[in-house]
Amino acid sequence: MFEKSQQLYQRAQLFIPGGVNSPVRAFKAVGGTPVFFEKAKGSLLYDADGNTYIDYVGSWGPMLLGHAWPPVIEAVKKAAEKSTSFGAPTEVEIELAELILDMVPGLEKIRMVNSGTEACMSAIRVARGYTERDKIIKMEGCYHGHGDSFLIKAGSGALTFGTPSSPGVTKGTAQDTLTTQYNDLEGVKKLLEENENEVAAVILEPVPGNMGCIPPAEGYLKGLKELCEKHGTLLIFDEVMSGFRVAPGGAQELYGVEADLVTFGKIIGAGLPVGAYGGKVEIMKVVSPQGPVYQAGTLSGNPLAMHAGLALLTELHKNRRIYDQLEQKTTHLEEWLHRVFKHHEIPHTMNRVGSMLGIFFCEDPVTDFESASKTDTERFRQFFHGMLKRGVYLPPSAYESLFLSNAITMDQIDSTVSAADDTAEEMVESAKNEG
Ligand SMILES: *Cc1c(COP(=O)(O)O)cnc(C)c1O
Repeated sequence: MFEKSQQLYQRAQLFIPGGVNSPVRAFKAVGGTPVFFEKAKGSLLYDADGNTYIDYVGSWGPMLLGHAWPPVIEAVKKAAEKSTSFGAPTEVEIELAELILDMVPGLEKIRMVNSGTEACMSAIRVARGYTERDKIIKMEGCYHGHGDSFLIKAGSGALTFGTPSSPGVTKGTAQDTLTTQYNDLEGVKKLLEENENEVAAVILEPVPGNMGCIPPAEGYLKGLKELCEKHGTLLIFDEVMSGFRVAPGGAQELYGVEADLVTFGKIIGAGLPVGAYGGKVEIMKVVSPQGPVYQAGTLSGNPLAMHAGLALLTELHKNRRIYDQLEQKTTHLEEWLHRVFKHHEIPHTMNRVGSMLGIFFCEDPVTDFESASKTDTERFRQFFHGMLKRGVYLPPSAYESLFLSNAITMDQIDSTVSAADDTAEEMVESAKNEG
């Protein structure tokens, strides 16, 4: 079933570290051979061996309306004919900026970059430049790209100075990153008090999607906002995943809390490499060339990427029904998966926010990294491969959220549920044989 993918993976490993250009693609968390893809249309993926899958990853979010959505493809083709890059200003950058400011609450100025990582690195630099402070607070299990400051995990105690979780990150950098658990307001309060006048920013995914999917507890985001205001610390929402997904205006709109700085990626470029960060004029005016905080990019505001993003966001802006439909589809999937797991007596917990769905093979509620780590990764591995061979492509890690696209039909969700039913039965059988 995967001969061609296996060959390609072997060849790739000769020339590319680990055979992939981003680690999660290597299937390390689930084992087996990564699937090499050839094309996709709407909700369907086609791999190098000619297998077809219903896609629940959507390039990790950007494919909110499905792959190769015609208006995006048209926009990219038209833009490409007029040049793939100028390295100079174009009108479409203004159009996209205006549209985003219209969609996202509280945003007054926005700067385009080329990835979510770049957006988060830049937002932190702006926060440090603006507040003239060095430290940041992040939540364990939240992902903000591969910038040095973010590759920090907490030590054994939850509230401690960070140690680098990757070689190559200096101790100095690690020391400026403080960590606590998501959804733990007290933890943040304590860190802010212990580091009075030293913390530039609190950064978090308002709806974490990088440890499954976890919704914010009632009052958590609002509480963070109040704490940050009190301590002169900036609140940064990393909406690289949640932006334009959980609502047209992202988590800020959904939960009615405005951050000081917001970062974007994924959906904003409709599948082309784009990121962005923005906030109030008062803060964004420190950004070069208006202010002293340097940040630049040869390909930033690239015309292909801007036209692609504009085509997708224009649709999301004018057609709010998309979000209702996504909600309906994802709820349907969640309910039926729940029934399937219950029927086969497989312990599980699911979290859903809009069209993000986290499946955890553990019983207790998942509210932070600690509880997410209780998920049975071996069970997930079995589930993943059972679904894969039945034509359903799930994220290849127990710590990633599913992303639905509106191209997925109710019929496809029903066939996903019957694939899950067969897979669950297989999982129970294999457990019996082992026992
Ligand atoms: C994907 C992601 C990033 C990093 O974006 P890249 O485009 O991969 O650099 C940052 N933050 C969050 C919340 C993400 O999901």
